[in-house]
Amino acid sequence: MFKIFYPDEEAASAYDIPYEALYNNGIRGVIFDVDNTLVPHGMPADDRAKHLFLRLRDIGLETCLLSNNKEPRVSSFAQAVGGSNYIYKGNKPGRKGYERAMEQMGTDTGHTVFVGDQLFTDVFGAKRVGVHSILIRPIHPKEEIQIVLKRFVEAIVLHFYYRHKKRIHQSEERQI
Ligand SMILES: [Mg+2]
Repeated sequence: MFKIFYPDEEAASAYDIPYEALYNNGIRGVIFDVDNTLVPHGMPADDRAKHLFLRLRDIGLETCLLSNNKEPRVSSFAQAVGGSNYIYKGNKPGRKGYERAMEQMGTDTGHTVFVGDQLFTDVFGAKRVGVHSILIRPIHPKEEIQIVLKRFVEAIVLHFYYRHKKRIHQSEERQI
């Protein structure tokens, strides 16, 4: 149930993803959500984020921030991490933002991953365009009320997702 919302992969955070391995597997571009993915909602880029983007550049990965937030928020973040492609008012889960992100990075769906914290905007949009999606746990503290409500519905979908994963795991074990 709800399979259209299931992420392709999960990670504890955007900082716990093996980007070197992704590069070795042919990935050349990473699209990032910003709020609650790289920093808490509305916060500026911190040292951890800056180091991550340095590391990504060293690896040879292109990056693009794809946010539904406004221009000043997204452009200043892109600048603070040492320069990254970015798209503001990305209108996720609309396809366009993801397509423009790949255009900016010079990549395509086979060579791009998306990293974000929300199922119904981030992951759903990535799935619609066919970009591999990695769901991370939100860096929370204070979330807006609309997001809190969405989280409640997300929790229901995630319940089915984990059950689905468990079943796959169990049937794999039976086969062994
Ligand atoms: Mg977010």
